[in-house]
Amino acid sequence: MIQFPVYLDYNATTPCDPEVVQAMLPFFSTHFGNAASRDHIFGWQAKEAVTYAREQVAQLVGAEPAEIIFTSGATESNNLALKGVFETYASKGKHIITCNIEHKAVLDPCTHLEKLGAAITRLAVKESGLIDLSELENSFRADTILVCIMYANNEIGTILPIQEIGAIAKKKGVLLFSDATQAVGKISVDVNRDGIDLMSFSSHKIYGPKGVGALYVRRKNPRVRLTAQMDGGGHEKGLRSGTLNVPGIVGFGKACEICLSKDQNQKISTLRNKLEASLLNIKGVLLNGTKDHRLPNVSNLCFKIAEDESLVARLNKSIAVSTGSACMSETLEPSYVLKALGLDDRSARHSIRFSLGRYTTEEEIDYVINELSNMIHELRNEPVTEQLKN
Ligand code: PMP
Repeated sequence: MIQFPVYLDYNATTPCDPEVVQAMLPFFSTHFGNAASRDHIFGWQAKEAVTYAREQVAQLVGAEPAEIIFTSGATESNNLALKGVFETYASKGKHIITCNIEHKAVLDPCTHLEKLGAAITRLAVKESGLIDLSELENSFRADTILVCIMYANNEIGTILPIQEIGAIAKKKGVLLFSDATQAVGKISVDVNRDGIDLMSFSSHKIYGPKGVGALYVRRKNPRVRLTAQMDGGGHEKGLRSGTLNVPGIVGFGKACEICLSKDQNQKISTLRNKLEASLLNIKGVLLNGTKDHRLPNVSNLCFKIAEDESLVARLNKSIAVSTGSACMSETLEPSYVLKALGLDDRSARHSIRFSLGRYTTEEEIDYVINELSNMIHELRNEPVTEQLKN
C-alpha cells in the first residue's frame, strides 16, 4: 500500500533505518554516559560505542578511524574545513578555488572568508554541471591553499571527477577538500583512491539520525593541520569541542555499516530511469544536467508546461519533491545551481528534483508517473496553458 504523500525527496533527508534506531536506543537511557567521563563504566561504555562507530564511519570512506572528526553535520564540517584550513595556512596563501554549484554550506563560508581577506575563485560549470578541468588547472596561483569541489551535486546529482581533480591538486601541491554529503553511502567514495585531503559528510542523508556528521582530515601524505572553530573541552583531538552526541554517533556508525552491506543502487537507478523516461516522453519536459556521471537516485526535470507554478504547487499533497530551488514562490530566487547550468529564471522555477531512496517502490513510481501525466494533461486543457506549450 502506498503511503501519501509519496516521498521522493531523499536528497533533502532520509528516514532512519529501523536497525539504526535499534542501535541508538540504549544510548538514550541505560548507556547514557558521557564519552569523556574517564572514571567510571558509564563513560567507558559510551567511549567504546563511539570508538566502534568511528571505525564503521571510517570504513565506509576508506579512512583511518583517527582521521574522522564527529560534528553536528555537513554544514559544520564544511565550516570547519574551510575556515580551519584558511586560518592555519594563511601565512602560506589566501587563495581558494571552488565552483559555483557548491552547496550554500560551502559558498557562504567562502563569502565569509572573503571578508577576512581570502581570494576565492568560483569556477563556472558547463550545462552538464561539470567543471572544465583545464580551467581548474589554470586557476592555480602561487598563493593557492585549497581546492574545494563537491563530490556530487545535491540538486542535479552530477558526480564531479574527484579523482582527476585530486590528481591535479596533488600535482600542484594543494590540499583538496570535498563536500561529499550527497555521494557517501550512494556511490563508492575512497579518500585514498580519490586523493581527498578533507571531506565532509552527514548522517541524515544515509538513513542515520539528524544532527551528526563527520569531517575526514588526512593524517599522512600530507598531514593536514586545522584550526578549531569551536573551543572548549578539547574533544575530537581538539578540533571540535563539545560533549559527543553518543546516540547520534552510534546511529551514524550503524547507518554507514548498512550502506556497505546493502547496495541498492541497481534497484534505485532502475526506478529512477523508469520515472525519468516516462516523464521525458511528455512534450515540454526536459532533463537538467546530464545522464552520465550522475548519482543513481536523482532526476532533475524542467516542466515547461504552465506559466505559473501550479504543477509544483499541486504536487505537494500527493508527492513530496523539491523544486530546483529551496523555495516554491515566484517572489523568491530561483535555484542558483540551475541558473549556473544556463537555465533562465522561468525554467529554473519550473524544475523539480526527484530523489529516490531505499524505501521507494515500483508502485510509488507508477503512481507518480500517472499522477504527473494527469496533472499535466489537466493543465494543458486550461485555456491559459494552451499558448505556453514551449
Ligand atoms: N552539503 C550538501 C551537498 C548537502 O546536500 C547538504 C544537505 N542539504 C549539506 C551540505 C548540509 O548538510 P547538513 O544538513 O548535515 O548540515
